[in-house]
Amino acid sequence: MWVFKKVADLQAFIEKQRLLKKEIGFVPTMGALHNGHISLINRCKSTATLTVCSIFVNPTQFNDKNDLAKYPRTIANDIVLLTTAGCDVLFLPDVEEIYPMPSTKQYNIGSLDKLLEGSFRPGHFQGVCQVVDRLFDIVNPIHVFFGQKDYQQCMVINRLIEITPQFHHIKMHIVPTLREETGLAMSSRNMLLSLEERSTATVIYKTLLYIKNNLKDGNLSALQREATIKISGAGLQPEYVSIANAQTLEPVLFWDGKTVLVALVAAYLGKIRLIDNLIITDWES
Ligand code: AMP
Repeated sequence: MWVFKKVADLQAFIEKQRLLKKEIGFVPTMGALHNGHISLINRCKSTATLTVCSIFVNPTQFNDKNDLAKYPRTIANDIVLLTTAGCDVLFLPDVEEIYPMPSTKQYNIGSLDKLLEGSFRPGHFQGVCQVVDRLFDIVNPIHVFFGQKDYQQCMVINRLIEITPQFHHIKMHIVPTLREETGLAMSSRNMLLSLEERSTATVIYKTLLYIKNNLKDGNLSALQREATIKISGAGLQPEYVSIANAQTLEPVLFWDGKTVLVALVAAYLGKIRLIDNLIITDWES
């Protein structure tokens, strides 16, 4: 695996690969890699002919500086995982390489900025757009891979591609959430949980399944309330438990039995903030 820390070196390498007719696939990450990330690398390898992964803990998407400070960093292990997975290129830039000047650009992502994560993490998605805009510009990929684990982020990236003419050729791939056997969605933040907390955290996926299994058309507020009680009853502090339109993420209080729905949860377990989601209707309906 080639490892580049400088934008100019990475771009010179990628340019040569492009002349060799390689199709560039790109998997942006913040490191502390686990098998969920590796499932994105695998999808990229089976779709593109050159797999580029980036590891960059992006300061502009952290609205809480403590969260940034305690974000896990396990670069030696990350390199082992990526090499074993057969990743071709790792881009590992410093903050100055990504932001030679402080980024102040703002993006019109509409209500995605206000709903759910947007409401509880003000500025988060503007930071995500800033870094993804910069990374797409540097890597200039054809295929990009994001995890459904961060469902709203996937919608934001779709929107970023839509509003940025030079990204219109990019094909976005959303990769299903990889889970532990217990159902807990794999996450870099899980390594900050004790074994007991990891077990407690499984209530989130159990609750998403509960919503899916008890969904009926009509008024959804009782189901939403029951789900919230299940999560707080297990000792977590939910920020939101939402049953939402899978396209717009607007809450659906009354279901017509047809609209595709996603259930989304964000909850604190102690000081660790966890998110998860599940499509609870068939995409076809
Ligand atoms: P992060 O390093 O947390 O920014 O995640 C990098 C990418 O990996 C994002 O597109 C995430 O949605 C994706 N990802 C994180 N966890 C999982 C998972 N459990 N399954 C699939 N993709 C994931």
